[in-house]
Amino acid sequence: MPNIAFVNGRWSAISAAKVSVEDRGFQFGDGIYELIRTYGGRVFHIQEHLSRLQASAKEIEIVLPYTAAQLEKIILLGCRKSGYADTKVYIQVTRGAAPRLHSYPKKVKPTVVMTFREFEPLSMKLREQGVAVLTTPDIRWARCNVKSLNLLPNVMAREQALRSGAFEAIFIRDGKVTEGAGSNLFAVLGKKIVTPPAGPFILSGITREVVLQIGKENGLEMIERDLKLSQLYSADELFLTGTTVEVLPVVQLDGRPIGAGRPGEKTAFLYRAFQEQIASM
Ligand code: PMP
Repeated sequence: MPNIAFVNGRWSAISAAKVSVEDRGFQFGDGIYELIRTYGGRVFHIQEHLSRLQASAKEIEIVLPYTAAQLEKIILLGCRKSGYADTKVYIQVTRGAAPRLHSYPKKVKPTVVMTFREFEPLSMKLREQGVAVLTTPDIRWARCNVKSLNLLPNVMAREQALRSGAFEAIFIRDGKVTEGAGSNLFAVLGKKIVTPPAGPFILSGITREVVLQIGKENGLEMIERDLKLSQLYSADELFLTGTTVEVLPVVQLDGRPIGAGRPGEKTAFLYRAFQEQIASM
């Protein structure tokens, strides 16, 4: 049973998994999620992902019905049951099912859904060539640190990027970069490798944190500070980080080449160091 789902304790094929039409995730996007992956059966930074899930739940006052240790057990069991070497684990927790009223229902049990599928890596060709990105106004709310189900601005921005031939959309708020629709952004400016600071306007990615740490351990000048859009156009290198993209070079921004117009050395170095960390996991 490779593509499987867990819904409040019940396991099934994904195609057979069901939640109520009155689920508040479906009605309001009233819930949170995480996307985790495994490498050769080992889960990448599971504790960090579970801590972020707990932090998101707390921010919107959902009491998780499972402890981190229990969630970990379910995740590991799901990965074993699905049997893939590289598994994409999606976890979604909503406030639960109740008649549709905006206010929080009094007695409601959160819905916990997990799905397990094979993780499909990006093509090596894309990694070698680098990708194009498109900037777009950041029309999201001011609680982007919550990994909320409300992804309509992200969905629309990604679609706009794809239609223009780009791989990812980069959000701009008040002339400053925040992040990608589903990734974080780093800019290499001379010796400095800069990424916007954690806070309410970005989701601080687990990959972002890992890359910041790897860079520092290797003596690179990793800096968390605001980045103006104009600084991106003149950057030596740009790259995206995220669970699915890992460390991915960006070679074009709004149709303009970045640096030499091909993947840069610092990006390549960080990608290699990231792969080394995975190999030693
Ligand atoms: N920002 C946003 C908006 C995202 O959706 C994601 C992917 N979940 C990220 C950043 C990257 O986070 P992570 O490295 O934890 O996958």
